[in-house]
Amino acid sequence: MMDFEVPGRILQDRDKLRAFFGDQVTPHLATWYREGAVPSSLFSAFGDEGWLGFEMGQSSLEKHPALKGSLVAEELAKISPGVAVSVLAHVDLGLTGLWLFGSPELQQKYGPSAVAGETLLCLGNSESGAGSDVAGISTRAEKVDGGWYLEGTKAYVTNGLISDFAVVTAVSDPNGDRSSRLSMFLVDLGAKGVSRRKLHKQVWIPSDLTRIQFDRVFVPDDHLVGERGKGLQQVLRIFTYSRVPISALTLGTALGAFEMAVEHARKREVFSRKLADYQAKAFEIADFYAKIEAARLLLHRACWRLDQGDDFRLDSSLAKYFAVKTAREVTQWAADLFGAASVIYEHPIHKFPMDAWASSLGEGTQDVQKLVIFREVMRNTQAQTT
Ligand SMILES: Cc1cc2nc3c(=O)[nH]c(=O)nc-3n(C[C@H](O)[C@H](O)[C@H](O)COP(=O)(O)OP(=O)(O)OC[C@H]3O[C@@H](n4cnc5c(N)ncnc54)[C@H](O)[C@@H]3O)c2cc1C
Repeated sequence: MMDFEVPGRILQDRDKLRAFFGDQVTPHLATWYREGAVPSSLFSAFGDEGWLGFEMGQSSLEKHPALKGSLVAEELAKISPGVAVSVLAHVDLGLTGLWLFGSPELQQKYGPSAVAGETLLCLGNSESGAGSDVAGISTRAEKVDGGWYLEGTKAYVTNGLISDFAVVTAVSDPNGDRSSRLSMFLVDLGAKGVSRRKLHKQVWIPSDLTRIQFDRVFVPDDHLVGERGKGLQQVLRIFTYSRVPISALTLGTALGAFEMAVEHARKREVFSRKLADYQAKAFEIADFYAKIEAARLLLHRACWRLDQGDDFRLDSSLAKYFAVKTAREVTQWAADLFGAASVIYEHPIHKFPMDAWASSLGEGTQDVQKLVIFREVMRNTQAQTT
């Protein structure tokens, strides 16, 4: 039987989340935007409430249902996509890497403080020479007695400045083929040889985007994450998971702008009528609402497949592709409705179109999603005909 109802406990969570964000996030946003930083204390406040996606089981991390994580991302992004992406980088890139591939020892050592939001994690994969083409990275991991030396630069790391540890991909086996050259490491960002530089950007404010350089940084053997030579497959797996919450974040970005615009259309008078009283605007509202709801259905199906333990590669790419497409259209339309006010930096609508633009870049661009969708379609149609 098909069931489209969001479970009651998730709806209760939503009410709690809204109250929590109203208290802990909204009143501080102007300061965080001005300072260009998400305070680390926000993560411990999230951790205290159990909003950081995981909890510590007997000996390993345990993941919360995908719909719950999506709810946090969506609700937070409605208020601030920039704060939402900072939470996502910790939970859905860093912690997810530790959960999927970290040894029980690594999970026991770092899991409890990470789920409490006291230790922050990020993911360093993209370099100036390779982003979509993950196998093309050039950061080197040289094997030495008892560990590895990392050498290279990760160009774009969300939360790179505020994190304590980074999950990092590097070439450990340069003579291997594309699928077996990389490994993954958990790197202490306080270690000797690590330097960080914050980049100036116009999207996802106030999260930080940071360049992290590794100059012969020693990483002990037990901080290898997963298997040697499996770094490519592992990081792609992390992205498959994190496409689900970033779809929710992107949906929240669309909704934040949409709700603001509808409210504005109800109130703003032009040529003696409210904007919403013009049929042209009414039809736009209907059209964008239909797209937002379609994006939500794709997202919920991806959450459901993930939680069922089914293959959700196609679903997560479909959800992300459609959420980004929708958010880009909706946020531009919404900003347009505010006229000149939309270009003013402090106006709440101002950031939404740029944030919707950025949402393509995390966890694979629109082209990368199309590549995954195409591959899955070809595989599924072949399976049906054989
Ligand atoms: C705000 C922000 C936060 C980020 N945070 C992180 C982070 O926390 N960790 C991290 O590791 N990275 C992060 N990134 C980097 C991000 O993951 C990459 O920018 C993204 O993967 C794209 O890589 P690229 O910039 O090298 O572009 P490229 O890979 O060079 O792509 C350039 C263009 O080519 C297209 N393209 C690529 N491959 C194909 C193909 N096969 N067929 C057709 N078209 C193609 C792309 O869609 C794009 O339009 C962040 C980026 C931004 C902007």
